[in-house]
Amino acid sequence: MLKLLKEACGVFGAQDFKRDSVFPYIYWGLRSQNHRGHQSHGFITFDREFNLHRELGLVPKIEREDLQNWLTRLPGHVGIGSIRYTTSGGTDEESLIKGIQPFLAETDNAKIAMAFNGNIVNNSQLKREIRVEFPDFTYACDAELLCRKLLLGLEESRSLASSVTACMRDVEGAFSVAGITQRGELFAFRDPCGIRPLCCGYSEDKNICAVSSETVGLDIGGLEFDFEVEPGELVVASENGFKREQLVKCESRALCGFEFAYFARPDSRIGDRYVYEIREDFGRNLGKEYTEITEDADIIISIPQTSNDAAYGLHEETGIRWERASRRHRYVTERAFILLPRERHSTIDKKINILDRRLHGKNIAVVEDSIVRGDTTKTIVQKLRRKGAKRVDLFITFPRIIGPCFYGIDMATYGELIGSKHNAQEIAEIIDADTVNYQSLEGLVRATGLTRDKLCLGCITSEYPTPLAQKMANKMKERFEGGHKERGRIYELASEQTIS
Ligand code: SF4
Repeated sequence: MLKLLKEACGVFGAQDFKRDSVFPYIYWGLRSQNHRGHQSHGFITFDREFNLHRELGLVPKIEREDLQNWLTRLPGHVGIGSIRYTTSGGTDEESLIKGIQPFLAETDNAKIAMAFNGNIVNNSQLKREIRVEFPDFTYACDAELLCRKLLLGLEESRSLASSVTACMRDVEGAFSVAGITQRGELFAFRDPCGIRPLCCGYSEDKNICAVSSETVGLDIGGLEFDFEVEPGELVVASENGFKREQLVKCESRALCGFEFAYFARPDSRIGDRYVYEIREDFGRNLGKEYTEITEDADIIISIPQTSNDAAYGLHEETGIRWERASRRHRYVTERAFILLPRERHSTIDKKINILDRRLHGKNIAVVEDSIVRGDTTKTIVQKLRRKGAKRVDLFITFPRIIGPCFYGIDMATYGELIGSKHNAQEIAEIIDADTVNYQSLEGLVRATGLTRDKLCLGCITSEYPTPLAQKMANKMKERFEGGHKERGRIYELASEQTIS
């Protein structure tokens, strides 16, 4: 799928113990991860005090003549940054501006800066708790909630470890966090299920400690990956490297399965493998699972970028030519989120160029990473038909999405998901394809190199790794199937009592 689904966010943080300016590392760490969020970006550095820059839009190009300005405005040897896409809070311009991360919050005795990737499930309960202590609190987004929760803990205990433990104990959801204490220490932690990725690395001379959502954030700065932050773990940068502390036992590890198919950059590493290697295996699996369909295919085409590696795997498995007959208009960068739903099709149409010469009269195997709403895939299929394709068979690496996500991907309702109402055959009819062939769940799990109990697969299995999310999903499904209209993100609308 072209990058149309709203991702969560990405974070990056670095501390330079030679005390040089750390801003260039933060800048490139975010630029390399801009695929994780396009709505806003922000930087906070620390140099005796916190320095802040937050803005809507992509991380900007910095021209040579502006560089000194940036370095002057964001001095310091420690810093964090965030790129964001809204999965909590409003989406009007005022709300987007309020929700730009990193967040900086303070009380009389404590101050903390924080960048967050994820989503809070017990949002309503936490808001009530925060409002008791901060009566003027107006909710901007989940990062602010978690930041204030952390601050409350610091007020009471003065200990980062016990404040983070309280967050891990009381907050349900996905949170991979990079932050700076008021003493200028870089820290990072990950929720007890480890739903969103987070990794750490160093410069070769070990003077720089860095934390990043994905390994590409380290690669771009010439930093070496060292370890993934464990679920329930807090790490704090020090001159001797990261101090690691397991604060909360991880009862059920649950890394988001969709990271492998769609979100993560192909050149990022998760576990022992690069994401592109895993995606190649997805393609091979599809070839093995659907031999009766692929034997009639003349050519394979991929939807550019996220499906290329899987298309290569399918080509290797079947020997069918992978025809690079779909190309992206490189500088058409408008994102579909800025358009009204009825305009979505025309954006896809503008972004992808399909070359007809080798497609005409052919049976085409199209490789795609996922089908969420179905509208963008339909546009591609129709485009192929217009170019003379005889058959269009779709091969989808991520199994059928049947339920919402509560952990930071903006698919919040059953109603918006074509797979929640229709099986593969019905979807094929709706989007005008001959067949829709999803990779099996077993194939996906095997290719990740993890076991099923180490992954979140909630949106494709309806089994969610945290209890309130499971309750919400069950309740939402019951209401949806009963014909009730969904009003939006249930985790923001509902209290725990109304769900139970
Ligand atoms: S529900 Fe789906 S998208 Fe959300 S974290 Fe789990 S696997 Fe990822």
